[in-house]
Amino acid sequence: MDRIRFQPCELPPNANALRTEVRDFLNKEFADTPPSDRANSWSEGDAEFSKKLGARGWIGMTWPKKYGGHERSILERYVVQEELLAAGAPIALHHIADRQSGPLLMRFGKEAQCLNILPRITKGECYFCIGMSEPDTGSDLAAVRTKAEKVDGGYLVNGSKIWTSQAHMVHFMIGLFRTDPKADKHSGLSQFLIDLKNTDGIEIRPVINLTGRHDFNQVFFEDVFLPEDALIGEENEGWNQVLTELTFERSGPERYMSSQLLMESITREATQNPGERAAVEIGKMVANLASLRQMSLSVASMQQNGEDPAMEGSLVKEIGVNFEQSIPRIAHELFGVEAGLENGSEFEKTYAKINMGAPSFSLRGGTREVLRGIIARRMGIR
Ligand SMILES: Cc1cc2nc3c(=O)[nH]c(=O)nc-3n(C[C@H](O)[C@H](O)[C@H](O)COP(=O)(O)OP(=O)(O)OC[C@H]3O[C@@H](n4cnc5c(N)ncnc54)[C@H](O)[C@@H]3O)c2cc1C
Repeated sequence: MDRIRFQPCELPPNANALRTEVRDFLNKEFADTPPSDRANSWSEGDAEFSKKLGARGWIGMTWPKKYGGHERSILERYVVQEELLAAGAPIALHHIADRQSGPLLMRFGKEAQCLNILPRITKGECYFCIGMSEPDTGSDLAAVRTKAEKVDGGYLVNGSKIWTSQAHMVHFMIGLFRTDPKADKHSGLSQFLIDLKNTDGIEIRPVINLTGRHDFNQVFFEDVFLPEDALIGEENEGWNQVLTELTFERSGPERYMSSQLLMESITREATQNPGERAAVEIGKMVANLASLRQMSLSVASMQQNGEDPAMEGSLVKEIGVNFEQSIPRIAHELFGVEAGLENGSEFEKTYAKINMGAPSFSLRGGTREVLRGIIARRMGIR
């Protein structure tokens, strides 16, 4: 049974100066952008903005210099992420590459893959998507059916991936495919690096979400040839590799900060003189936010120390998404706000976007029930 560890964490002395630098930059950058235009934050992308972050050294911050990185600490990266999310900055294009694809390549990839791709990621010029879910395979990820059959000089891929965020905008996918259909389901999987812009046989079809946005896609592979060097890590070791990738995916501050702009709108709406009910609710929100931040920082410091925070990261995600999902309800209960996506006030538009996005918070990156199962297993009660 694993012990739950949330050690208090102090940010390093240089973090405050870095925070001020990032905040000043973001204040200037978004001085004229209303909150409702920033409400989707890490689902929204802007290529020019990604390049600006790259030029400032805020992508691949912890990576080695030989890969274009800046060899800064995980806690410094945390401060930058926190400020970007609080501002609702449009980070979607480079975020997955920075958060998980780059770190995965550094852990398991070939030196040539790293030298070729990572410097472009750090410049904010190269983006990735996640090729895990399939039409009949979401929570039960080990059941993926898309096949990568060994052929002369490489692999032939057939099948499809779904809910692939930003696949239509990005350069590469890291895909989880079945390489040994005879092995048991956890053993016959491998990860591949797929150049989406320069590979024949790939079709990317939009899947429009509840708000009318095109974020998701279904990606079809028909006799797609991948050369041998597209394999990441070892053949049939994909399951262990993907578990590492999911730890990178689940543990960051984006798992409790998705409703941040609505939280700020609530405090603005309550004015300097909130009634007792609003004051109590705002107090609870701030206390919850502060606790989650401490827990999440603690996870970041474990990563900094080379420990495995899989259970603590899952706990932050589970408690964090409950928190971010509760904010639209609080806005509605306190002020009776109704959704006004196109023509409402700033408050109504911000509420509408976050309220419609909120159901997905406990699905993306692994559902609530799956996360609870992981926590229970690690605690030895399942
Ligand atoms: C905004 C968003 C972005 C996403 N982006 C990506 C992406 O870029 N790439 C990608 O690969 N995927 C992506 N996904 C897909 C996401 O990972 C899956 O939706 C998720 O893993 C759940 O899979 P599913 O949708 O097939 O649901 P299912 O697995 O069918 O689950 C349906 C319901 O059953 C419950 N359930 C399933 N199994 C169990 C069990 N054993 N015990 C108890 N309850 C269970 C689930 O918790 C859920 O409530 C994204 C999803 C969202 C919402």
